[in-house]
Amino acid sequence: MKLSKFGTKFTSDAGITSLMDDLGNAMASGEDIIMMGGGNPGFIPEVESALRERLQRICDDPTLFRKLVGVYDPPLGDTAFIKSLAKLLNNTLGWPVSEKNIGLTNGSQSAFFMLFNMFAGEYEGGAEGAIKQIQLPMTPEYIGYADAGLTEAFFRSNRPTIELLDDQLFKYHVDFEHLTIPESTGALCISRPTNPTGNVITDQELTRLDGLAREHGVPLILDCAYGLPFPGLIFSDASSYWNDNMIVCLSLSKLGLPACRTGIVIAHEDVINALAGVNAILNLATGSFGAMLAADLVDSGQILALSDNVVRPEYLRKSQAAVARLQKGLSGLPFRIHKPEGAMFLWLWFDGLPISSHELYECLKKKGVLIVSGHYFFPGLDEDWSHKRECIRITYSQDESLVARGLDIIIAEVRKIYSRA
Ligand code: PLP
Repeated sequence: MKLSKFGTKFTSDAGITSLMDDLGNAMASGEDIIMMGGGNPGFIPEVESALRERLQRICDDPTLFRKLVGVYDPPLGDTAFIKSLAKLLNNTLGWPVSEKNIGLTNGSQSAFFMLFNMFAGEYEGGAEGAIKQIQLPMTPEYIGYADAGLTEAFFRSNRPTIELLDDQLFKYHVDFEHLTIPESTGALCISRPTNPTGNVITDQELTRLDGLAREHGVPLILDCAYGLPFPGLIFSDASSYWNDNMIVCLSLSKLGLPACRTGIVIAHEDVINALAGVNAILNLATGSFGAMLAADLVDSGQILALSDNVVRPEYLRKSQAAVARLQKGLSGLPFRIHKPEGAMFLWLWFDGLPISSHELYECLKKKGVLIVSGHYFFPGLDEDWSHKRECIRITYSQDESLVARGLDIIIAEVRKIYSRA
């Protein structure tokens, strides 16, 4: 089969494809595989019961049911949901947004594809004529960005600085000293909390990036798929804000609705209008399912209470249990864990690991544990840096006894590898 450049690029081995293959196959196989690789959220009974109850009410109401399955929404989604969300963001966070600043997409992954390619790639001639890039101020950064550009050399990124902390922990910071934003930058983008590390950039770092973006006349895309205001998987002190140079991307996935594919973009009206045009071409309209299921939660503000009182404590507890197990099991080895400040991952750094992180992934897969090799998480960072081959990402969102079993297998394997060296 002969394919276009587009066809070739988008069918080549992408990190996100193998990750989602692993995830899908493991979740579907029913085999005894311990899935600590993907970003599937855990199953939280309180969330499930709120959604089940709402779905039942929709099914019992002929008008709502018809809207659920039988009506195209406008290109950027369910207007009632968008109105409720604008009101919630206004009233509870004081964000100066109206429904004109909000658009829904089929998952935030597709929002990133559209936004990235709206701001980076080839620009029309004249003074602006140039190839622009998405700048990631700090890697490691989300694997799902890596292959989302329609053109080559789509990302430019920076190494972080590393702060070593007590108890075998460490934390990445944006290296502002070496962060340059050239003319060729189309937008800045950072995830908060960061997938894969669980890092939460500080309020000061966020304010500084926001200032730099405005100074250089480019938007700051802030990926809050795990963050504020919902699902609120942030364990450190962090606040959030929005201004019309920021493009804040949220998602319903990590709250517990990944199958509904609902992403939320909050941005300047011009960005939302442009996104509506792209989304109409790609999708006609955004699916209604997630928005309709979550409508009452947003309208009543219950989504914030669920995030604060149920979802966040659940992940915090799981993260603390996983960290304690690793600290004990790996004691004596040259390992470090990124300070878990949010999301649902632990990022482990094995200094001087005798094999590559990808080889470690292969060894663990043979033992029935799926993790993700860290080397995928450095999009746009072409320089050789041994750190890129020394880290792995572990998801702790699934059943706690399975996670504990998986961690024990990881501990035993890593011990064996270091002892052989
Ligand atoms: N952003 C980050 C940091 C993620 O980890 C993910 C998914 O894992 C996404 C965005 C995309 O999520 P979704 O398309 O389900 O909204």
